[in-house]
Amino acid sequence: MGATFEDFKFNRQILNAIDDAGYDEPTPIQQKAIPPILNGQDVMGIAQTGTGKTAAYVLPIIMRLKYAQGENPRALIVAPTRELAMQIEENIRAFAKYTDLRVVTLYGGLGPKTQIEQVSKGVDIIVATLGRFMDIYLAGHLVMKQLQVLVLDEADKMMDMGFMPQINRILEVVPRKRQNLLFSATMSDKVHQLSANFLEYPTIIEVTPQATPAQTIEQRLYYVPNVKTKINLLKYLLDNTEDIKKLMLFCKTRTVAEDVYKFLARKYSEQEVRVLHANKGQNTRINSMNAFKNDEVKILVSTDVAARGIDVNGVSHVINFDVPFVTEDYVHRIGRTGRALQLGEAITFCTPAEEYYLGKIEKLIRQSIPVFDVPADVFVEQTSFEERQEQAREIDLQKRKENPEFKGAFHEKKTLNQRKKFDAAKAKANPNSKAAKERAKKPFRKKR
Ligand code: AMP
Repeated sequence: MGATFEDFKFNRQILNAIDDAGYDEPTPIQQKAIPPILNGQDVMGIAQTGTGKTAAYVLPIIMRLKYAQGENPRALIVAPTRELAMQIEENIRAFAKYTDLRVVTLYGGLGPKTQIEQVSKGVDIIVATLGRFMDIYLAGHLVMKQLQVLVLDEADKMMDMGFMPQINRILEVVPRKRQNLLFSATMSDKVHQLSANFLEYPTIIEVTPQATPAQTIEQRLYYVPNVKTKINLLKYLLDNTEDIKKLMLFCKTRTVAEDVYKFLARKYSEQEVRVLHANKGQNTRINSMNAFKNDEVKILVSTDVAARGIDVNGVSHVINFDVPFVTEDYVHRIGRTGRALQLGEAITFCTPAEEYYLGKIEKLIRQSIPVFDVPADVFVEQTSFEERQEQAREIDLQKRKENPEFKGAFHEKKTLNQRKKFDAAKAKANPNSKAAKERAKKPFRKKR
């Protein structure tokens, strides 16, 4: 406690910019990571978004580079998605505002012409997604000889997306002698492997135990039988929760996101809601994101892919309309709220077909998410025949994944739609699992 940004001996330009950003004190990751990074050490930071990890490396980089120099980049920051890249750029611009450092961001989805023009005017810091960086490099527009610092941000996501070969290519084209910084929300085997190739005698910093959601986030779980009930519950929560100031709603697919968006746009005005997914053009996505950031709209509906790396301040609530399939996405999703020292709430809706993923999430975060009863005023819909079949099919698939011998209940014409049966089957499959015991105690409540 008690550490201040002055303790890091940043220069005046940086301290003033930190002041302007309204940061009073460094967050834990900043307290731990800034000194070794300033010392020139390689650092591996295990920290999820929302902890202040971006400033933890951006500030020392600005301190090291100080002012514009030469033509070629001296720092390269690589991110898995363009949204994250843009977010990092914004951080750099904010903290380098009293310097003349030049930052250029390279990402796909737009033609490369402007980016190439910017680079050829001279650049100090490049923020880039992997593919676009390589394209522009291979086209001969970048000289990497002066590179001093290389950062890989959200390395776990890059590994999940299969970017290892691209990372290796980048390592081939940058100078051997450089400072390496690696940030990741989780410490998976692949990240571990990457760190062995990438870092030299690194200082390892972990701000919260692996993949534990920030403690400022209150989590809640509702069991619902079907999608229609999810909508009813959503409506109820929106009508009855007073402190929803800014809400991000996550859906598993583009189609679900569109449906939820249509429902919300009918309920509120279109002015208050936006939807973000990969099928929207890049400009529409940027506009929606900015409208949400600047408080012009209160609700943003999004898929995981579209939401990666988005940094929005003051999100009071996250609703997981669907449980994410990619376990780590849960941590990323709810990391949108409860950011750096603010309180937030993360609410998850779960159908029987999604419990499988929920189990994996609870294992990853090493806690069980508190279960709340569906309020009596929420109308619990009957599950349609199609949805019941769909759920049964998904559950079959999940069981097969866990046990290739599994023959498949779906074809035995068993109806799996009722929670009781579902729980019984689950408990039978693994009567000792904590989840089975707990869930059995908490049957789904129907409206009388
Ligand atoms: P990050 O984990 O880098 O995505 O940052 C999460 C959010 O916390 C961003 O909105 C930052 O602007 C904010 N933030 C970072 N460091 C601090 C700090 N020391 N004090 C207050 N807010 C911060």
